[in-house]
Amino acid sequence: MTTTPTFTLRDGAAMPAVGFGVYQIPAAETETAVTAALEAGYRHLDTAAAYENEEAVGRAIAASGLPRDELFVTTKLWVQDAGEAPSRAAAGRSLERLGLDHVDLLLIHQPFGDYYGTWRTLQELQREGLVRSIGVSNFAPDRLMDLIDHNEVVPAVNQIEAHPFHQRVADLALLEQHQVRAVAWGPLGQGRGDLFTHPVLTRIAEAHGASVAQVVLAWLLQRGIAVLPKSVHPERMQENLAATELTLAADEMDAIAALDTGVSTAFDHRDPASVHALGTTRFAV
Ligand code: NAD
Repeated sequence: MTTTPTFTLRDGAAMPAVGFGVYQIPAAETETAVTAALEAGYRHLDTAAAYENEEAVGRAIAASGLPRDELFVTTKLWVQDAGEAPSRAAAGRSLERLGLDHVDLLLIHQPFGDYYGTWRTLQELQREGLVRSIGVSNFAPDRLMDLIDHNEVVPAVNQIEAHPFHQRVADLALLEQHQVRAVAWGPLGQGRGDLFTHPVLTRIAEAHGASVAQVVLAWLLQRGIAVLPKSVHPERMQENLAATELTLAADEMDAIAALDTGVSTAFDHRDPASVHALGTTRFAV
């Protein structure tokens, strides 16, 4: 079994560099998938209230019998629960669904609605021990800068879309400047486009006897970016975790750097239509 290396967060917490993401895994299949991921060696799980599968993640954790301190569990609060009081209640509901007395990382899922109120609550929940680390997701550099400037606690992480076709160079520079750990969602481009057959990525993969997925994950990890690949197939789970054993040469890193299109393959969080669509979506949580 592969042991995942960890990244140290600015608050001192150790976060496994490769996490298992459960977005779009139907609730009925999530317990099986998370159980397989834990068996493959994952110790970092990434869910969200909006994924509507926290209960199933909790059941897999409970059934695993793993000591709680060997697991790093992240969840996120959705926009409908933004604000001081709603976010406190929502955090309580997430803990209940997960069957945990604390989470290792609680994130503001989207920078919409009263996320300043949410952040004040997250700071309190951290002081109270209900969450170990607090962070944000999908925060563009200007929003992150403003949040840092007008609050006590600097986010431990910003979870953003990042992969070879959308590399986020300016975003990453600001994160590094403030020691905010970057966590890549959609690290495999969500399986969209020609990522798995791209000639540059295929050439590098063949040179290492590795898969394209491993090359892409290693390229992110080597630059200090944590990754959350998602797969429901145990062999791919293992393959993705083993990316930590691959080291790319400088010219290979540069060749991948040249693939940036600067465009999201999912949502542009600065586009008013996306802001409206995401910000008004409600979940039964
Ligand atoms: P991803 O980039 O992990 O792509 C997943 C797809 O890649 C899978 O459906 C599968 O088809 C394919 N895949 C995975 N491993 C493979 C392999 N070894 N070989 C070939 N194909 C492979 O995309 P994702 O699931 O959207 O993102 C990963 C995680 O990031 C999510 O599960 C979730 O936890 C998190 N996420 C967060 C946000 C956010 O707004 N914070 C948004 C999306 C995803």
